[in-house]
Amino acid sequence: MHEMTHGVALPKTPREFGFFINGEWRRGRELFERNSPSHDVPVTRTSRCTPDDVNDAVAAARQAFEDRRWAGLPGGARAAVLLRAAEGIRQRREEIATWEVLENGKPISQARGEIDHCIACFETAAGAARLLHGESFNNLGDGLFGMVLREPVGVVGLITPWNFPFLILCERVPFILASGCTLVVKPAEVTSATTLILADILADAGLPAGVYNVVTGTGRSIGQTLTEHPDVDMLSFTGSTAVGRSCVHASADSNLKKLGLELGGKNPIIVFADANLEDAADGAAFGISFNTGQCCVSSSRLIVERSVADRFERILAEKMKKIRVGDPFDPQTQVGAITTAGQNETILKYIAAGKSEGAKVLVGGEALQCGHGRYIEPTLFSGVTPSMTIAREEIFGPVLSSFHFDTLEEAIAIANDTVYGLAASVWSKNIDQALSVTRRVRAGRFWVNTIMAGGPETPTGGFKQSGWGRETGLLGVEEYTQAKSVHIEIGDRSHWIAS
Ligand code: NAD
Repeated sequence: MHEMTHGVALPKTPREFGFFINGEWRRGRELFERNSPSHDVPVTRTSRCTPDDVNDAVAAARQAFEDRRWAGLPGGARAAVLLRAAEGIRQRREEIATWEVLENGKPISQARGEIDHCIACFETAAGAARLLHGESFNNLGDGLFGMVLREPVGVVGLITPWNFPFLILCERVPFILASGCTLVVKPAEVTSATTLILADILADAGLPAGVYNVVTGTGRSIGQTLTEHPDVDMLSFTGSTAVGRSCVHASADSNLKKLGLELGGKNPIIVFADANLEDAADGAAFGISFNTGQCCVSSSRLIVERSVADRFERILAEKMKKIRVGDPFDPQTQVGAITTAGQNETILKYIAAGKSEGAKVLVGGEALQCGHGRYIEPTLFSGVTPSMTIAREEIFGPVLSSFHFDTLEEAIAIANDTVYGLAASVWSKNIDQALSVTRRVRAGRFWVNTIMAGGPETPTGGFKQSGWGRETGLLGVEEYTQAKSVHIEIGDRSHWIAS
């Protein structure tokens, strides 16, 4: 260990990670190094897997599925493993949080909160594993009894992004396991550490070998091999809409594997004049700055009633100026570093486009110098028109565009004027108004007078080009099952051909 930052010693040499197949660790011939986005020191070295490694991982998952070492257990036995894994995560909370900070750049306080959510995901999925059941039909007449069985879909390929490496993983893995499926995970190459740590936690919790396998490497090579693999029954992909689209093509061109897709968002936050403006401004500041806006459910389009727009923007700008951006190991930090150099460049390009297309910067709008890291000021643009680039495209950074409206119809129309439909938030004390917006804005997750609230009990997922299917909650387990209808004859069957 060397250089200390806020009481945490940065690794002196990067930690080396292998990859995990059939309960065993392997080491890649080539490794790639990851520098901390906030301190610019090398922190991890991860294996660059080959397509053959993916084949091995899929074969291990297939074998573990077919011999029923996991799917054949009672739901209660699967639940017991998931609960022990929840405990394992709790015990290693600080270690996992540290790797999340080192690889991703998010504030340590936020990372700890996310890990608590991950523990809740395992506990929720454990309950679901016990309760997962089908249906019975006792109304088909005295001669016939019908059942609908829920069966695991099989081998799942899971591809995750770098913005919430552990959280998105844990919003998928325990639900996949609860269903009885086996899986091969491919984390984002810059943030693989905690996905690999989970392999040890699951093995210690008693998960049989071959059920959870991890391959590491680039999307183009390893991710693509997984999406095209003919022996993967379902692919769960979380990431950009562009790659989501390529997963659809890969499925069509291989084995028509089932797809679960959670993709981009351009999420509206609608503020009516009768809202508690202080609360709404706090929600808007949080909604765009959380995880430096590198968040699929970031509320990146503020749609505010014109009669209060100036006042609201002033309150919001004051709040955004006070957001504490800096070293993520400082427990006071609210917004950390931008995770990748490419994303940093993309966000700054969008800010430049906003300025050049005529939007007005009310706060922020610049890169921030802070140690050796990459930081961007939380930014608020006013006077945004629907055709501007910053109004239409997902920025995936702390950049909020403000629009004004006069009527409820206009607010709904602006909110729906996007190809995305991931999340939305509405602020109003008028229940009729809030409910009308909730019913008519097309988004998979909705918040009324709050933002980013909720737990793993409720499902997540998108409308329109934000994705297919749902994760978490009971629906999140059912997503990894398929229904089988069974008909049972009772008594003597009347013959089609007379004997
Ligand atoms: P990305 O799509 O580039 O990468 C996501 C994952 O896909 C990574 O593991 C990557 O290695 C892999 N990948 C890349 N190219 C691939 C290919 N051709 N075939 C198979 N896999 C491939 O996205 P990103 O840069 O990691 O994340 C940012 C994007 O993800 C944003 O657009 C954001 O909205 C979206 N996102 C959505 C959610 C959600 O829940 N809806 C969550 C997080 C991120």
